Amino acid sequence: MHIIVIGGGLAGLAAAVRLRRRGIRDFLVLDRGDRVGGTWRDNTYPGAACDVPSHLYSYSFALNPGWSRSFSPQPEIQAYIEKVARRYGAAEHQVTECEVLGARWREEAGLWEVETSRGTYEATVLVGAFGALCEPALPDIPGLASFAGEVHHSARWDHGTELAGKRVAVVGTGASAIQIVPAIAPHVAELRVHQRTAPWVMPRLDRGYSRAERFACRWVPFYQRTWRAGLYWAHEAQAIALAKVPALLKPVELLARAKLRREVRDPAVRRGLRPDYALGCKRILLSNTYYPAFNHDHVRLVTDAITEIREKSVVTADGTEHPTDVLVFATGFHVTDSPMYERITGADGRSLAEVFATVGRRCYKGTAIAGFPNMFLLVGPNTGLGHNSMIFMIESQVRYLLGALDAMRERGLRRVEVREDAQERFYQGLQSALARSVWNTGGCASWYLDRHGANTTMWPGFSYAFRRITRTFDIDAYHIAR
Ligand code: NAP
Repeated sequence: MHIIVIGGGLAGLAAAVRLRRRGIRDFLVLDRGDRVGGTWRDNTYPGAACDVPSHLYSYSFALNPGWSRSFSPQPEIQAYIEKVARRYGAAEHQVTECEVLGARWREEAGLWEVETSRGTYEATVLVGAFGALCEPALPDIPGLASFAGEVHHSARWDHGTELAGKRVAVVGTGASAIQIVPAIAPHVAELRVHQRTAPWVMPRLDRGYSRAERFACRWVPFYQRTWRAGLYWAHEAQAIALAKVPALLKPVELLARAKLRREVRDPAVRRGLRPDYALGCKRILLSNTYYPAFNHDHVRLVTDAITEIREKSVVTADGTEHPTDVLVFATGFHVTDSPMYERITGADGRSLAEVFATVGRRCYKGTAIAGFPNMFLLVGPNTGLGHNSMIFMIESQVRYLLGALDAMRERGLRRVEVREDAQERFYQGLQSALARSVWNTGGCASWYLDRHGANTTMWPGFSYAFRRITRTFDIDAYHIAR
């Protein structure tokens, strides 16, 4: 069995490590970047850090007693990922600077043909670990191409650009923007934050770990595992409010409003920063420095929509022309419309993009898709979490993948493809569970919802429930062929 994994981020790396541990060596991990790391390799913007505690946001098979703080910065996370890749031998399977241009299921041969920038590969099993947060999205603003200054996307930061003394416009106020704004504010002449929707911001309980704590993590039996378990269950409890009883979030809104009142001096700015939808509907952001940044005279909040970009300025709906030297787009990613969907072609000759365009992002357990035999996605549709570590979901999916590979090997199967009826039942169950979630009912537009309004992004509830349904490969849900 030959396996191709597309993507060497946290998901692809988890698959690689587990495959090796299972004694499987006949696989490659293709990645367009020059190193492992995926979104953590790409997001090097000033202030980049994780907003899930590091002791939770790490692999169960590679705990890291050395985390420097509760929410580690990007370079530390990237170093961790690279270390794991080396230590567990995954690096041997990595093909870097190898962009996947197309993957096509060849029914007669019973294999995937994967065309890349470095040649064509064949695989009996294709693992799509290309993630959700990998393809930067730029808004379609008239005149953007005519802008003469520097343009950054948060996920493609050009560290060669000097920001000192510049007039900088940050577009977007999501998880990336709220880290960038306070990080660059002290260095620029003028900073405008172009906000379309105000985010909910909660305190970030971040602190450095003492040497004693790091020592205990390394040497005291069960100390780190117990700590991690405590973090896991504390986060897991939040699923009740987000996915099942959003009314529980109302008191939390009061706390967030109090934080806004306390941290922003100007009442007009405070009004602009106040969200008008339910907390949790979009990702809840954690920051102690975002709101205070607006107390600086040179930092301004702009809530009028951007209507046009000119050679040296940004024009907003109120007719104001804002002189601008640098544009920073912290405008997120192509999540529900990943370009990879156009490149993967299934058994009936249609691409994933075409299939999704007709039936929506229907998927079985976030992993298998009817019409795409021997293909397993990691971080596929409806595996997103608003409350816990994605690594937990990834490891659950990898376990399911290994179960599928075991079943194929033990039973001599040439082809497994999820049954459409099983996929449909699963999808309908998800949608009815999500109907009461805050993501669906909270009164906001977000990338959790696709253009038909269906929530094909989030997992509706406890991550352990996902672990339970992915614990064993349920072959009855699949068409199989020898
Ligand atoms: P995002 O959450 O999708 O936010 C994009 C922002 O851009 C939103 O505020 C959006 O406004 C705004 N926007 C888009 N088009 C615009 C336009 N034409 N004019 C003005 N504003 C516009 O993207 P992100 O901040 O990069 O975060 C994406 C995800 O990455 C997060 O949800 C999180 O899962 C992950 N992330 C995690 C961390 C971490 O600490 N672990 C850090 C960064 C990112 P609307 O709200 O109105 O759409």
